Parts: sequence; C-alpha cells; structure tokens
Amino acid sequence: AMEAPVRRHRARYKGPAAPPWKETYRRRCMERLRSSRAKLLDRYRQAGERECGPAVGALLVQEVMELEWQGLQAAQESPPARGGEEALAQMLEDPDELAVLEEIQQELILQEQSVIEEYERSLQFDEECLNAMLDGLDASDKVICPVCRNNNLTVRNHLVLCQCGLYISTQGMTEGKLRSLLENTVTEHSHRCFHNPEFTVTSGMEEEASLLMSCPVSLRVRFLE
Ligand SMILES: [Zn+2]
Ligand SMILES: [Zn+2]
Repeated sequence: AMEAPVRRHRARYKGPAAPPWKETYRRRCMERLRSSRAKLLDRYRQAGERECGPAVGALLVQEVMELEWQGLQAAQESPPARGGEEALAQMLEDPDELAVLEEIQQELILQEQSVIEEYERSLQFDEECLNAMLDGLDASDKVICPVCRNNNLTVRNHLVLCQCGLYISTQGMTEGKLRSLLENTVTEHSHRCFHNPEFTVTSGMEEEASLLMSCPVSLRVRFLE
C-alpha cells in the first residue's frame, strides 16, 4: 500500500516543540534517500513502463521513513516496533510529533522529486548529444566520436582513434564503413528499446580495446573490435 505513513487528519500542528528525535531521524532519512538513488531511479523507470505507477514523488519515501523509524526505535532500546507503518501510527499519539513526521515526509518527497528531475534532465541531455552525433554522421564523411561526442574520429585502415583517447585496432576500416556500422547499431537498438545508448571503450589489460554500446536496460553490444 502506498498510504502515507502519517494519518493526515491527526496531524495538526500545535506548537514549535520539536521532539528530541527529530533531527537525528530527519538526517538519517535524508541520508538513506540520498544513498538509494539507484533504487529510486529503478522504481521510477518501472513506474514509467507500467504507466500507471504511483504518483511521482512518493516512490521510496514511505519505505525510507519506516526503515529509519525502526532503526531509531532499536537504537533507543524501546520495546520492539511491530512494523514500520503500524509503529509510526500507534506510537505517536502526540499531534506535535505527527506534525514533525509530516514535515519530514514533505521534505523527503521534495528530495525525491529533485533526484527524478535531475535524472530527466540528464536523459534529455543524452538524447540531444546523440542526435547531434547522428546529425554529424549525416552531414559529412567525418565521423564524430561516439564516446566523447566532441571530436572527429581519425579512421585508418587498421586503426580508429580520437583525441579523447579512443584507440581501437581494426581491419579494413573506412569512414563510410564505420559510419554505417554506427548508424545501423543505433537504429537497430532504437527499434527495440526507447533508452538512449551510450558508447564506451573496453579497457581490459588482456584483450584489445573494442567499442561497446550499452544502455540502462539492454545487453551490451560489442560491435567494433
Ligand atoms: Zn572521442
Ligand atoms: Zn536499450
């Protein structure tokens, strides 16, 4: 259930008296949320794929609050809580304390939203970079480096290299071949996946460097080696 851990109708704010656990609890919740960035973004993506997920901004907050509440209870060696949500509701009868929880909850929701907004901005940035690279492919016989997306690749028969450090041994390569290889790989990926792929160079000590295309959900494709 995605109910808020605090019963709203009981949370009337009476006065400024903050309970002694407030700062510790607040800080731990914020830290846990911050360190759960990957998990939060996973949930966000899953919610997006179902297209009927919980409202953005309440994906992880309840869980974080329950876990930290249990942690706080354990640290104070009070009788063991019966489970996060129940404990939160039953052990806090004081409206001031409920108001504090509500305040922390709102703060966590804002924090969650800002993580998601930052992620959305970075997705958009990736897409713009990718489009710029593809435009570059169309525009000339130069091939923009898919890794740094900044410089033109130098293509030799046995070698593809870039100022950014990309250096791949290959055979019988031309700019035309490389361009269609990149285009085909990106196009093929876009037919089965809506994420933006990223390009990296493998850097094993044992093996020759090769170019990898990957995205957050697809298997890696090794296509230039
Ligand atoms: Zn480069
Ligand atoms: Zn993909």
